Amino acid sequence: MTSSTTLTGTYPMTINGQAISSTDSFGVINPATGAEFARAPQCTPQQLEEAVRAAEAALPAWGADEQQRITALRRLADVLDEHVQEIAAVLTDEQGKPLGAAAYEVSETARWLRASAELPLPEETVEAGPDVSVRVVRRPLGVVAAITPWNFPLLLLGWKVGPALRAGNTVVVKPSPYTPLSTLLVGELAQQVLPPGVVSVVSGGDELGARLSTHPGIAKISFTGSVATGKKVAAAAAEDLKRFTLELGGNDAAIILEDAEPEQILKGVFWGGFINCGQICAGIKRVYVPRSRHDEIAHLLAERARVVRMGPGTAERTQLGPLQNKAQFDRVAELVEEALAAGATAVAGGAPWDGEGYFFEPTVLTNVHEGMRIVDEEQFGPVMPIMAYDTVDEAVARANDSTFGLSGSVWGADIGRAQEVAQRLHTGTAFVNDHLALSPDIPFGGAKWSGIGVENGHWGLEEFTRIQVLHTPTRS
Ligand code: NAD
Repeated sequence: MTSSTTLTGTYPMTINGQAISSTDSFGVINPATGAEFARAPQCTPQQLEEAVRAAEAALPAWGADEQQRITALRRLADVLDEHVQEIAAVLTDEQGKPLGAAAYEVSETARWLRASAELPLPEETVEAGPDVSVRVVRRPLGVVAAITPWNFPLLLLGWKVGPALRAGNTVVVKPSPYTPLSTLLVGELAQQVLPPGVVSVVSGGDELGARLSTHPGIAKISFTGSVATGKKVAAAAAEDLKRFTLELGGNDAAIILEDAEPEQILKGVFWGGFINCGQICAGIKRVYVPRSRHDEIAHLLAERARVVRMGPGTAERTQLGPLQNKAQFDRVAELVEEALAAGATAVAGGAPWDGEGYFFEPTVLTNVHEGMRIVDEEQFGPVMPIMAYDTVDEAVARANDSTFGLSGSVWGADIGRAQEVAQRLHTGTAFVNDHLALSPDIPFGGAKWSGIGVENGHWGLEEFTRIQVLHTPTRS
């Protein structure tokens, strides 16, 4: 077992328990400045082969010792907790989120890993007759490819690696090329507690993701990212009948009922949309309000947006950082500009900040409607379109009129009434007076184009297993 932890400066890959650099590298940009601040190794095809081969070689011993896996996962969680500040600093530099939020993400990743360690692998006896016994047990799938996006690089890593390892698989991780460093760092730290080859971390661009997901040594792809890439991953998996889980995009609607409290709206709806600068798959991206309350609610949310403290994630008291990358910044700016040109009103924000970095003002839009891209598409930025409805049936129909179906929420003082409405949402999760309430015990997944399969809880664990039926005579 190697434990060559480097907390500053260089960011090697981890392959077969070794810290590995590469002949080639790519730049990583700090979104608060727009300038490159570090480089990550560009994994070569040969190095990817080595990572997959090491994962295959580690499988038998890792799969055979359940207690070792539980202990290692608990210790991995401890290692993250011991290094929260160091990892958070890297995460803030590459992702842009405020330091406090980055530290929270690291701790949450540890919490998720710990929860995975404690999940029992289900086993069932379906027949225990005088002649025959039939048991259904869970077996690992093999080598898992864990492919992650740039918005929550570590938390989403934990969602995959925890249950994959608990079930007895080994993993090759490929983080987003925009945010590879915190994952590379965690990959190195993990070698303190994991046998070589159990988790390797390779870095590179989208083509590396494609190479990994078509690799014949990979049994399952656990992917979080955009719908467009998810479809490519599904097509790549089909060729070899690999198992896959897809956690994709969302365009979550919040429906506010007549009796919703202003306090709930301010706290829950506002931060349900703007947290992580709106770069969250299951964040609120459209708000439907009763026509009678439209102006009041738009005013309330706009006032809140105006006082949010935006700035570099390293600055004290920053609540919202920049958008993570230039392409995302340009996309948000374009969608807002297009909406304004088509008659939308920015009651707060509406423009990028002058100066360096990818900062875009927290924006609340009115006079928006379906047919505008800011409403129909996943904007993935600090923008909240507010739309009036006349009847609740109409609001539900408009919320459901989307190719996405990740989550949705209904807000009101009469919980029973709100719940009735929430049940009609075509989404993986339907909240009442909440949004984004995620937990390691609660399955998370999308309807429609928002994904296939779920993560978290025993449901998520089972997706990293295959069923084996053990059919044996009772008497010898
Ligand atoms: P993306 O699809 O561009 O990239 C995600 C990952 O896939 C990256 O590591 C990328 O390098 C890799 N990749 C790219 N092409 C590939 C290919 N052909 N084969 C295999 N891998 C490939 O997504 P992104 O822009 O990094 O992330 C933002 C998206 O992620 C948004 O749509 C967001 O909603 C979604 N997301 C979903 C969830 C969820 O749980 N449902 C969570 C977070 C983010």
